Amino acid sequence: MNQLTRDLLDSPGPLLLVPDAVLLPEGPADGYAVVVADGSFRAVGPAGELARTHPGLDAVTLPGHLLMPGFVDAHHHLTQSFGSALAFGEPSEIFRRVWVPLEGALDEESAHAAAKLAALEALRGGFTTVTDAGTRADVDVDIVASAARDAGIRCVLGLVCNDVAGDAATAAEDSTAAVLESAEKHLARYDGDPLIHASLAVSIPEAATSTTLHRTARLAEEAGAVVQIHVNEHLAGVERSLVRHGLRPLEHLHSIGALGPQLLAAHATLLTPRELTLLADTGTAVSYNPVASAWKGNAVAPATAMAERGIRFGLGTDGTRGDGFRLADAAEFAQRIAYGLATGDSSCGAGWTWLEHATAGGADAVGLGARTGTVAEGLAADFLLVDITTPELALSRDVPWELVRRGNRDQITAVFVAGELRLWRGLPTGWDGPALVRQAAQLARAAVERAPITRVHPTSAAARQRSTAR
Ligand SMILES: [Zn+2]
Repeated sequence: MNQLTRDLLDSPGPLLLVPDAVLLPEGPADGYAVVVADGSFRAVGPAGELARTHPGLDAVTLPGHLLMPGFVDAHHHLTQSFGSALAFGEPSEIFRRVWVPLEGALDEESAHAAAKLAALEALRGGFTTVTDAGTRADVDVDIVASAARDAGIRCVLGLVCNDVAGDAATAAEDSTAAVLESAEKHLARYDGDPLIHASLAVSIPEAATSTTLHRTARLAEEAGAVVQIHVNEHLAGVERSLVRHGLRPLEHLHSIGALGPQLLAAHATLLTPRELTLLADTGTAVSYNPVASAWKGNAVAPATAMAERGIRFGLGTDGTRGDGFRLADAAEFAQRIAYGLATGDSSCGAGWTWLEHATAGGADAVGLGARTGTVAEGLAADFLLVDITTPELALSRDVPWELVRRGNRDQITAVFVAGELRLWRGLPTGWDGPALVRQAAQLARAAVERAPITRVHPTSAAARQRSTAR
């Protein structure tokens, strides 16, 4: 596609887009087209039919391209991007040693740059929605909202509602009241915003009182929002909960009425059969984060089993790397290694499962199922134009599985969010991406220097030197 096409795509007003195919939930539909107007899909159907029913629109043909839903990242920490190169080789509960100190070293300028950098990486990887689990930087969370808005990405924005500090077991009553008051304000703050969707967050169950866990669930339920909690992620967390409550983290949340469709349980890697039933029975959603499992986890969430049992889940990067195709691939790959090899299941979800949970399933899990995640009439026009003429995809016979196993961000020509062209061939439209990257790299060096970070693992080169010295 040439500059002329790019300019047409970047123009305001309704667009009739005619790619080679449109990826629908049931599979790729050849010869389909879409009409985009006012930020949404106004129509989706056979190209000839849409041309007849929209005679005032000139068709923009997109030869060699697949139009597919944008990816939904169901778990991210946008203001942790400055530490994205500090996470390798680190054991579990890295948040204590790296993330909390790093976020504590951010000021308004660096928090904004970190969040915008993460948003840019996400857009480049085909994500049109990111779910932020709540910044622990000491700044107004609106800094993160404005960074997402400036970058042009949809953002489910968590506000941290922890009311227990450190290893204390209880909170002062006034801190609980203050937390709940801010939670209520935050849930109303972005009403009507086209890109920002408010959400609540508790870092881990032990970081909030039972009152707060219960009340945030009810507040989110009433507002149609989600509460994000890291749950059953590491052995240390499961054991802390057992010691304190005699219950595993998910069982504890269940005992105080905090499970339900409003809960987005991040990770949920260590699940007993009983806890799988609790998730299924309560309609609780999960963010399955396969790359985080590989990098610092104790286990891989049983996502193929969750899909089979109708447990709602999306896929999350947890800030590891922002490529939607590689995430879908990791989701399948981790299931194969952790479960499929042992049972002789050579398909583990048959490709489509991971594409669906990376898009529509993720949108549902983060509370936006009625807004995004699918190319369908009335939903937000959050979509990608993927080049299917490359050596990786041109010999196509099975598009969904090819996208999972052979796709990556290089094949994305354009990213649209809310009907607007936000990224063209890896570069943002309307603002200077490379300048932001340069600024962020500088601010990151200073923030990492300031932060009291403890790393367990040496750099790769230092590890080599140690190894070869023996
Ligand atoms: Zn996380």
